[in-house]
This record gives sequence, C-alpha cells and structure tokens, in this order.
Amino acid sequence: MLKRLPITFWATVFVTLVCVSLVGLDFWRSWNARAVLLEQTERSATNLARAMSQHADDTIKSADTSLNDLEERIETDGMGPDRVDRLHRVMQDQVRALPQLDGLYAYDASGRWIVNSLAGFDPKANNADREYFRFHREHRDEGPHIGLPVVSRSSGKWVIPVSRRIDLPDGRFGGVVLATIDIDYFRRFYASFDIGINGAVALLSNQGVMLVRRPFRAQGIGASIVDTPLYRAYAHAATTGIGMFRSTQDGELRLNSYRPLQHYPLFVTAALSKEEALAHWRRDTLLHSLGVLLLAGLLALFGQRLIAQMRRRLEVERELRDARDALAGLNATLEKMALQDGLTGLANRRQLDVSLANEFSRAVRQGSSLALALIDVDHFKRFNDRYGHGAGDECLRAVSQAIRQQTPRRPGDLAARYGGEELAILLPNTDLAGAHAVAERMRDAVEVLQIAHEDSPAGIVTISAGVAVLVPRRGVDNITNLLDAADRALYAAKLAGRNRVAAGEPPDPSRPLSQP
Ligand code: GH3
Ligand code: MG
Ligand code: MG
Repeated sequence: MLKRLPITFWATVFVTLVCVSLVGLDFWRSWNARAVLLEQTERSATNLARAMSQHADDTIKSADTSLNDLEERIETDGMGPDRVDRLHRVMQDQVRALPQLDGLYAYDASGRWIVNSLAGFDPKANNADREYFRFHREHRDEGPHIGLPVVSRSSGKWVIPVSRRIDLPDGRFGGVVLATIDIDYFRRFYASFDIGINGAVALLSNQGVMLVRRPFRAQGIGASIVDTPLYRAYAHAATTGIGMFRSTQDGELRLNSYRPLQHYPLFVTAALSKEEALAHWRRDTLLHSLGVLLLAGLLALFGQRLIAQMRRRLEVERELRDARDALAGLNATLEKMALQDGLTGLANRRQLDVSLANEFSRAVRQGSSLALALIDVDHFKRFNDRYGHGAGDECLRAVSQAIRQQTPRRPGDLAARYGGEELAILLPNTDLAGAHAVAERMRDAVEVLQIAHEDSPAGIVTISAGVAVLVPRRGVDNITNLLDAADRALYAAKLAGRNRVAAGEPPDPSRPLSQP
C-alpha cells in the first residue's frame, strides 16, 4: 500500500521531517543549555549562602567570645569603681581588634551604663528599655542573645545587639554585657560579591526579621518577612534548601539558596535573578531560533516549490500518456476504417486490392496456386425495389455475416466487399476443388438464412458464385486474368439459373483446370 503513494507524498514527508527535526533539535539544544545555566546558577547561590553563613557565624562568634570574657571578669571581680577602668581598657582593645564590633557595653541590674568602649558617656543614660535588657532580666539563659537591629544610642549606627546576662553570686540578675555588631560590616562584605544587578543576599533571624540585606534599604532593617514564600520554605525545612521565589519586595523572580547559621538562630539567603542568569541565553536562543526558523522556512518554501514542480511534471507526463493512448486508439480506429467496409464489416476494396497484389506476387515467387471466388446476390435490384434500400442494406449485412463465418481462417484468406452487392473471397494455396467447396458452403449458408424474397424465383435470397484458380507465371499472368476468369464463372452461374457455384475457364487453354 505504501508503494502506491506518489513520489510527491514522500517528498512532502521528507521535507516536513527535515524541517521539523531541524527546529526540534534546536529547541532541544536550547532547552538543555538553559537547564545547564540554571544548574550553574543554583550552584553559585548555594556556594554563596555557605560562605555567608560561615562569615556571619564567625563574626558573631568572635564578638560573643569577647562578651563571654567580659561576663567572666564581671561575675568574678564585680563592677566596682576600681574594676571599671581596667574593663574600659579591655573593651577598647577588643573593639580595636575586631572590625565588626561597634562597641562593648556593661549595664547594671537597673539598666544604668557602668562601663563601655566609648571615650565618655552620660552617667545618667539607661538602657533598661531595650529588648535585650528585658530579655536577660526575665530569662536565666546561659547563652548569648541576639537582638533585633537597633540604631545605637552612642554611635547612631544600625547595629545588631549581641548580649549576655550577668549573674550575681547568688544567681540573681546582675546586669547585661552587650556587644553591638556594625551592620555596615556585613554590608561591606556583601557588597564584595558579584551577584549581578538584580541579585539579593540577606541575613535574617529565625523569626523572620531582616537584619541586613543587599540591595540595602534602611527601612528594610528589622522588617518582617514571615509572609514571604522564602520564609515559609525556610521555616518548613528549617535547614539548607533552594527554591525559585518571586520577591515580595521588588517582584523579581530569584533562585534562592537559604542556609541556617551553625551556632546562632539566624539564617542567610543568597538569591540570583533568574532573568539575569538567562539573559544571555535568551538573546542567544532568540538569534539562534530566528536563524533556524528562517532556514526551515526557506527549506519548506524551496521543498514546496520543488514538489509543486514535481507534481506538475507528473501531471504533464500523465496527460502525455493519456494523449498517446487516445491517439493510438484513434489510429487503430482509422486503420480499421481505412481497411474495413462500413456496411458489411468485411474488408473493403482497398484491402482486397492490397492483399490480392501481395498474394499474387507470393504465388508467383512460390509457384503456388491462388483461388478467387466472386459472389453476387441474385435479383438484388428487385429486392431493393420491393423491400426498400434500407432492407437491402440489412440483407447485405446478413449475407456478408454468413459468408464471413464460412471463410477459412488460414493466413491470407480474405472476404471482402468488391463493390455494390458483390463480394470477393481470396483463398491462397487453394486448388479449384477447395475453392469451389468453400463457395458452395457460402451459398448454402445464405440459403439457410431463408431471407424472404418474393420477387426471386427461389422465394428467398440466394447468391451465385464464380470460382477461378491460377498458378501465376512470372511475366505472363496478371491479376486481371484471375478476376476476369472468376467474373466469367460468375456470369456462367447466373446464366445457368443462379443460386449456384461455377468454376471459371482457365485463362490459358493450354492449362486445363481441374473440374469439381
Ligand atoms: P442479378 O441476379 O442478375 O445479379 O440481378 P440483380 O438485380 O442483382 O442485378 P445487379 O447485380 O446488376 O444489380 C445490382 C443492384 O444492387 C443495383 C443496386 O440497386 C443494388 N445495390 C448495389 N449496391 C447496393 C447497396 O449497397 N445497397 C443496396 N440496398 N443495394 C445495392
Ligand atoms: Mg451485381
Ligand atoms: Mg445481383
């Protein structure tokens, strides 16, 4: 069944397949490149989050180590006036040594400033209202407390307070030591990363409070992000993770890697813009796809024209074939018309002349005999007169049909209409007896038809035949001799009373004819 489909169908399938696979392959390649890019972005974000988490952990850890040391000293030696000077110097040394420290402070149980790293301060200042102070007063927690970002009362900078509780020897609340970490310290560190134009990094508390963020916005510090998908993902996993989230702050879609700090209830997030990560890819893919589409389009156009041409050519070929067949049929008809008699269906006079000439020369060459029978319908003029010309034609057709049936089927045998209601039967390689027998059978066949003919003595249509045979000699005999002999025989048959066969006289009396 497949073989039956035309070549143009397969050409169309081929061109379509080439175009589709061209576009398909390019799409697949582009999609792969995109996946690789996103994977790389994910890895970058993860590495960034790891570095930030480590950095924040270390920063707070070293501040806390200082606090721990101060807490030890105060709990052991107290905060008497003799200790304050020494504590002040230790605090100043620590602040100088640790760049992230904005300041170190110690408050007594009522929140009054006792000692700090500052050069001087208002002795009436009181920090009992601060969140970390109230926290320590109410909790006997041993560890450090990381508070919400505040603007320092002493330096005016945004700071993250890290604090520890001072216990009196009897365990009662004795005050607070505080280290303030400069938010600028994180800002500077975060500013050193290459996170693109739309990237974002942030340090946040586990409660969802923003501590530091790049891009930096003062009003963003201390803001809550508990309503963001990022926070929900982190709160749900409570561990390292990654996800594609749309920022509630600027609407940017980012690949967020989040990671908790190892020792403190904080977490960091590094987010790289998806748009930015794919920007180059997008441009590249757009150009590439345009090129491929153009190519596929040209290919399709070219293929389509080629196929149309192919189809046209096939059509022309088919038309030519049809025309040739029609012509051949027409030729055959013409040929038949040229050689056949229209009324009787027998060979016409022209074919008889050609065949007679051919057979005559063959007989001369081969020294064989050639027989000819001339047949004429009896009293046909009367038939026409009584029954009409149309009936005459019909009768002639019936007679011819009967005669054709009696014509031998050997090569060269031919029944032809000689003219009017006269027929001629050409019988090569036949002697007089054979030809006479054939004519007699024909006469009998017509008689058997029993076509009524009131004006004939027989009452039916009959025929008379004259038969002649010749073994023609080169240069002596000709066709006319044979025709004349047959005609004479026919005349003799008519004279003898019609409805009979007569054998002709030999044209040359020295060559006697065999009698039937
Ligand atoms: P005979 O027995 O002596 O042959 O008498 P006949 O009347 O047949 O005489 P003849 O052969 O001379 O007459 C031929 C007639 O045949 C003349 C013509 O009217 C008729 N005839 C010749 N050709 C056709 C033909 O094609 N159709 C018809 N209907 N009649 C034809
Ligand atoms: Mg006649
Ligand atoms: Mg006649």
